[in-house]
Amino acid sequence: MRQPIIAGNWKMNGSRESIKALLDGIKAGMGDVKSAEVAVCVPSIYIADVAEQLKGTDIGFGGQNVSTEEKGAFTGEISTSMLLDFGCKYVLVGHSERRSLYGEDDAVVAAKFAVARKAGLIPVLCIGETLEERENGTTEAVVARQLDAVIDVDGIDAIADCIIAYEPVWAIGTGKTATPQQAQDVHAFIRSKLADKSKDVADKVRIQYGGSMNAGNAAELLSQPDIDGGLIGGASLVAEDFLTICKAAG
Ligand code: PEP
Repeated sequence: MRQPIIAGNWKMNGSRESIKALLDGIKAGMGDVKSAEVAVCVPSIYIADVAEQLKGTDIGFGGQNVSTEEKGAFTGEISTSMLLDFGCKYVLVGHSERRSLYGEDDAVVAAKFAVARKAGLIPVLCIGETLEERENGTTEAVVARQLDAVIDVDGIDAIADCIIAYEPVWAIGTGKTATPQQAQDVHAFIRSKLADKSKDVADKVRIQYGGSMNAGNAAELLSQPDIDGGLIGGASLVAEDFLTICKAAG
């Protein structure tokens, strides 16, 4: 039985004041979240504040990006040890915004995944097709390529304790959500692809859906057999909506 995990991706949003209010709201409602694991991936400048505010709670937190380098002359970058220094448990790798806006290709994403995992962080590997790729029928080929890039570098066993987030790019921040069936089909494909290499890994790994998941559509998406949680952008910035999603996960 895979424990569902709901993670917020705040992207580049918030202020010290708004983040405090958001976390106060989430903490106040956590008593109604029965079995889901809950986490927030936050802008790095706020990680210290978030760490302080989440002390003694069951809410995990993480970064949204990480360098492949450990230290040195890499202006603007943040290393795995810096994330760990502040208590981060997770880090997003390969978010479509990093891929499309900052030129992170499969090789960079695979390298980030590998350094994060080796350092003891849990990488949340984001994969997914663009609208054009869906329309030309290459969704499975695209997610397979993105997965293989990581497995080729780090091996199939590296996937087991990590998290995969299937995020169709056309559904991110657009208000368009994959139908539960569309999402389930790709999740099942990802799991079967992993099972070709290791059934144990396929059975164990948690695969989140991401792409305009919200308080209204979460329950149906999360009821699909291969959807083990959600990576939530916009709706994670509103405590009530985020909590509704967490409760829908169990
Ligand atoms: C995301 O950024 O990972 C995401 C899923 O965003 P949204 O929920 O806003 O579509």
